[in-house]
Amino acid sequence: QAKQRRSGFEYFSDELNTVAQQQMTLESGLRQAFERKELALAYQPKVDLASGRVVGLEALARWLPRSGGIIWPDQFVPVAEETGLIVPLGRWVLRAACEQWIAWRDAGLNPPPVAVNLSPRQFTDARLIEDIEAILQETGMDAGQLQLEVTESAAMENPARTFDMLDALRQRGLHIYIDDFGTGHSNLGQLKRMPIDALKIDKSFVNDVLRDGDDAEIVNAIIRLAHALNLRVVAEGVETQEQAAFLKQGGCDEIQGYVIAKPLPPDQASALFARQFAP
Ligand code: C2E
Ligand code: CA
Ligand code: CA
Ligand code: CA
Repeated sequence: QAKQRRSGFEYFSDELNTVAQQQMTLESGLRQAFERKELALAYQPKVDLASGRVVGLEALARWLPRSGGIIWPDQFVPVAEETGLIVPLGRWVLRAACEQWIAWRDAGLNPPPVAVNLSPRQFTDARLIEDIEAILQETGMDAGQLQLEVTESAAMENPARTFDMLDALRQRGLHIYIDDFGTGHSNLGQLKRMPIDALKIDKSFVNDVLRDGDDAEIVNAIIRLAHALNLRVVAEGVETQEQAAFLKQGGCDEIQGYVIAKPLPPDQASALFARQFAP
């Protein structure tokens, strides 16, 4: 009787199981990934359009399982967020990025500021500020060389609280970038009060900037809006010289994307620090 009931249930949940099982495999694998040292950071340069210099580096998480291959953050970051593993993962990313920056500095390589992505869930963690403070202390990182990238929706989840946190971080010397700008729904009144330093135009707008007149208007409007609010503006996902030229023409401050470089392992990224790009 019990068997019958169970088999009915199993029949119903077979397809659900495959998705759930994939999630559980990822979750248990991710828990072990820390100890097994399977996590790594790739660094993608941000280039100042006026000078052609590398003025920032975005640290992007990579999972390189011992068994081979690569697991991309689009796969494991959502799992990490659902399971709460994003908190230790986020701490690991912050620490690894700061340690790398110090290693570059100690090697005399004159590294530009490094940017780390923070997920919405990390902003609900009461210990976020303490954790960042501890990591700065323990690594000897210069707070002024650390940028945090936060999505619009993360910042808007609980604006009063998040604005206080961002304000505290900025007073400590960190710089705050709003990531994927244009895809969330912050209103202009809130944007004006947000304690931030820069906007990153989402790559979905940059992608079609030369083919779609609406996207071109949106990109130029975001650039003007950012400047009206005394913010810097960065375009992400720039793949061609033509897109770079369009952005420069519109007054965009910085670009990031394959036209400059893909996210690179540390030794390849540092080879670009002294280069001058001419977009
Ligand atoms: P994001 O923060 O918007 O990062 C930009 C993504 O665009 C990166 O994908 C980057 O490799 C990719 N990209 C860069 N240039 C180009 C280009 O020219 N064309 C195109 N098509 N794509 C480009 P990636 O590394 O796979 O990361 C995906 C997302 O995963 C990131 O989006 C970010 O939201 C998240 N993520 C990555 N690392 C971390 C992390 O350490 N913590 C958290 N919380 N999220 C992370
Ligand atoms: Ca980002
Ligand atoms: Ca983006
Ligand atoms: Ca994104």
